[in-house]
Amino acid sequence: MKSSPVRDLLALTQRPEVISFAGGLPAPELFDVDGWRDAFAKSADDRRNLQYGTTEGNPVLRGVIAERMTRRGVPTTEDDLLVTTGSQQALTLVTTTLVEPGDVVAVEEPTYLAALQCFQLAGARVVPVASDEHGMVPSALAEVLVADRPTLVYLVPTFANPSGRTLPAARRQEIAALAERHDVWVVEDDPYGELRYRGEWVPPLTSYGERVLYLGSLSKIGAPGLRLGWLRAPRSLMSAAVIAKQAADLHTSTIDQAAAAVYLTNTDLDTHVAGLCAAYRERRDTMIAALPDTVPAGTAWTDPDGGMFVWVRLPGAVDTTDLLRQALAHNVAFVPGAPFFATNPDPATLRLSFTTNPPEDIIEGMRRLAAALTSPSAAGAR
Ligand code: PMP
Repeated sequence: MKSSPVRDLLALTQRPEVISFAGGLPAPELFDVDGWRDAFAKSADDRRNLQYGTTEGNPVLRGVIAERMTRRGVPTTEDDLLVTTGSQQALTLVTTTLVEPGDVVAVEEPTYLAALQCFQLAGARVVPVASDEHGMVPSALAEVLVADRPTLVYLVPTFANPSGRTLPAARRQEIAALAERHDVWVVEDDPYGELRYRGEWVPPLTSYGERVLYLGSLSKIGAPGLRLGWLRAPRSLMSAAVIAKQAADLHTSTIDQAAAAVYLTNTDLDTHVAGLCAAYRERRDTMIAALPDTVPAGTAWTDPDGGMFVWVRLPGAVDTTDLLRQALAHNVAFVPGAPFFATNPDPATLRLSFTTNPPEDIIEGMRRLAAALTSPSAAGAR
């Protein structure tokens, strides 16, 4: 796990003068500070919330999450859920439970960097499945299922990181059916599903079949610092996941779970999420509107219906890691796309996050990016 040049460069994006489109960070000014202050104050009054808790998690919190998932088309009870320390831990627990060194994990391409790291750390061989503007291609998955016999298939079906794209309902049905036919587990990682700015709701992949595990998160609709997520899994798998979690950290913070239970019970989260969506929709529109004047002719980009990310491919033989150096000299940042590929990176790609900065900063950041892209050393990078 050596440090990468990209990681070293991204450290520089923290400088206050940099407008960063790099991190996948929610807008801090939209955190419901009053609601969380109240929820934490109420929770801290009860000494049981400062005590050790059960590995499965706070039953009230699991109840409200189950109810929310049921309303979103996935019938769920408290017993189907394990509260985790961020959905990242849910992914680690599923991997620990199911993946042996040498096993194959199939992923869409490109995919979430920290998922790739999780699978690689477990000693898995990661096999990319051909994906297009609508996400993973089911016929390509069918081929990989036969040729490589994966243990696990990993997808971010809705407003993916890093591509922003969404898997249509028909593909969800096909992929869930393939999983059943081939007796393979599929992981639906869904931290962005509620952040829709346009278009029709698509049912979660897990609603199409028994072989789809679901990872949920409060990070993008609540606050990521809470580190609260969950795993929805069938009983057959849940007991092993609970043992893996017990070995990892006994349980997720009792006080944080209690505060989230109070918060979700007392707050109209739908209204809060609608407010987030209104603000993020404007930020997405601002970035998309600025792109034609920012990037060279021949550049392609995604125009996501939700989530946090725009995925960009520059024309020609560009290396966006070199370009990031140039961008940082202009006090703007993005993430180079190469680390999001399991095997053959496309060095001309990059990811822009539009949620962290208000529209006026997005406009200024895109201006700086345009300057970085037209500077002489950027031309050299191409
Ligand atoms: N999965 C994806 C696709 C993500 O983008 C992220 C966060 N960037 C996570 C999981 C981790 O989220 P959490 O904060 O719930 O651990």
